[in-house]
Amino acid sequence: MKKIGIIGGMSMESTLHYCSAIYEHINKMLGGHNSPEIIMITVNFAEIVELQNKNDWASAAVILNNAAKNLEEAGADFIVMATNTMHKVAENMMEGVNIPLVHIVEATIEKLKANNITKVGLLGTKITMSDEFYVKMLADAGIEAIVPEVTQQNELNRIIFDELCKGEVRPFSRAIYKAIIEQLRKKGAQGIIFGCTELEILRVNISPIPVYNSTEIHVKKAVSEALKD
Ligand code: GLU
Repeated sequence: MKKIGIIGGMSMESTLHYCSAIYEHINKMLGGHNSPEIIMITVNFAEIVELQNKNDWASAAVILNNAAKNLEEAGADFIVMATNTMHKVAENMMEGVNIPLVHIVEATIEKLKANNITKVGLLGTKITMSDEFYVKMLADAGIEAIVPEVTQQNELNRIIFDELCKGEVRPFSRAIYKAIIEQLRKKGAQGIIFGCTELEILRVNISPIPVYNSTEIHVKKAVSEALKD
């Protein structure tokens, strides 16, 4: 079994879910007392959020690059970064790192393609929905992304940072997500990407169309990578 290197802390809520889900999947597949070998570095989320708000992506990349290098030095065989948003700097993060990154967007695209999805609703942080990195990766794979309107993006982003990152889900917020998913469906979305690792907390039953939960997809990809010969 390969050693999984996790860069976590963005936020703690989703990091804990990554760990427990990886444990669960590995144990289910190998049985007995088998459990994954994980090396994890968690960053201070407050520093990352501050740099996001200042648009200082270079400094954020340096923090993540150090984390990636430390994971390699510690013996990780590959890296999993437990957030969608920070994959914006994935390329800079991996500079000088010689182990591979299991990329959350690539894993999600693989799943969408396997299900012949060509038009998808994208939900995530404001950066994920409005910045070109995510939408362009989808477009390059032949998948059109539909995102909510700007005022809706602001509200969804607020819910992620003020509630979901703190492990809280208010019924009103869940209803907002549900309404926006319905609007995206009416605009032709064949499925919805939960492109934020905390959206997991909302649970999938708020969507009448298939949900592509990036956390779940990423965890499964990491597990199959860990068990690959
Ligand atoms: N975990 C979130 C994501 O998947 C947001 C936190 C962050 O800004 O990194 O995008």
